[in-house]
Amino acid sequence: MASAYVEEVTCPKCHTKVQVKVTNGIYPMRSTEVANCPVCWEELFHKNITGDIEESVLSLEETIEPYLSEYKKKIETKQ
Ligand SMILES: [Zn+2]
Repeated sequence: MASAYVEEVTCPKCHTKVQVKVTNGIYPMRSTEVANCPVCWEELFHKNITGDIEESVLSLEETIEPYLSEYKKKIETKQ
């Protein structure tokens, strides 16, 4: 059965607060899943699990430049 939990991590590189959802028990085989910062793509942590890791931005309040401007630019061009 799949189980999930949520971790809150502050990116050491750009200081963005990132919410990472770790779901276990989806796949029959273990693989290394990496949690990356959605803003600067720094690796936050990795786990050897049978599931998935999903990252989302929790808060950009503490995010430092130039990562904040670059991230905002990226969002705007997507719309
Ligand atoms: Zn970051």
